[in-house]
Amino acid sequence: MTKETSKVAVVTGGTRGIGAAICEGLKDAGYAVAATYQGNDEAAKKFSANTGIATYKFDVGDFDACEEAVKKITKDLGPVDVLVNNAGITRDAFLHKTTPKHWHDVVHTNLDSVFNMSRLVIEGMRERGFGRIINISSINGQAGQAGQTNYSAAKAGILGFTKALAQESASKGITVNAIAPGYIDTDMVRAVPPEVLEKIVAKIPVKRLGKAEEIAAMVVFLASDKAGFATGATFAINGGQYFS
Ligand code: NDP
Repeated sequence: MTKETSKVAVVTGGTRGIGAAICEGLKDAGYAVAATYQGNDEAAKKFSANTGIATYKFDVGDFDACEEAVKKITKDLGPVDVLVNNAGITRDAFLHKTTPKHWHDVVHTNLDSVFNMSRLVIEGMRERGFGRIINISSINGQAGQAGQTNYSAAKAGILGFTKALAQESASKGITVNAIAPGYIDTDMVRAVPPEVLEKIVAKIPVKRLGKAEEIAAMVVFLASDKAGFATGATFAINGGQYFS
């Protein structure tokens, strides 16, 4: 693969799970990578020690914190060429048991974050005539999932955002795409009770969970110069579980 040596990539929620695999994939492809996280210092320290990738701690749902962090990353590494909006959380319950806090926390982390980070890098990308924004949605944003009205709404919101920003940015050399992973073997999925997970895997035509590296490979492609004609799209990577 061509090395993208001069480019800077930021991956939110980059210290664990899918984000960590994305960071490593981008680093291997030659990018200077910044990984962000919220609170798990131990995981961030371990990740940084293993990969040599710099980490930045802030809440992606907080616009002012994002602004400060983007300034720091730009100072440390240079202007952001590639933004991967990956940070996400779940707070699952049927709607009749969902609290306003569960709703707010999920929308704050999964959707407000996409506005915050994209808003803070888009002007620079427009000025420089190049950019890649890659948003990590979910199969459950496409298909809906009982027990996840908050998460499904936030992840579906990302798809609309992606299409609108792609239209605004296409003439400026900026592509904006979404990836909708199916069930991937990370801490988020390991938190699902084993008996539920067994039933989920049984419904996946390839009969296994996905690997974080399988999402990372698509991100590396979408970040590259070769992907310049792909924009506004949602790439489903779900083992055949759902065809949108
Ligand atoms: P993990 O739970 O393994 O990792 C989440 C990462 O996001 C961590 O680095 C975490 O930081 C960070 N994070 C969480 N909240 C915030 C916040 N408010 N501000 C900054 N960083 C934050 O998640 P996954 O790797 O499983 O998921 C990554 C993305 O992929 C998410 O958007 C998820 O919704 C999506 N996805 C995952 C699927 C799966 O099967 N795993 C399926 C479909 C989509 P910290 O370590 O400090 O907590």
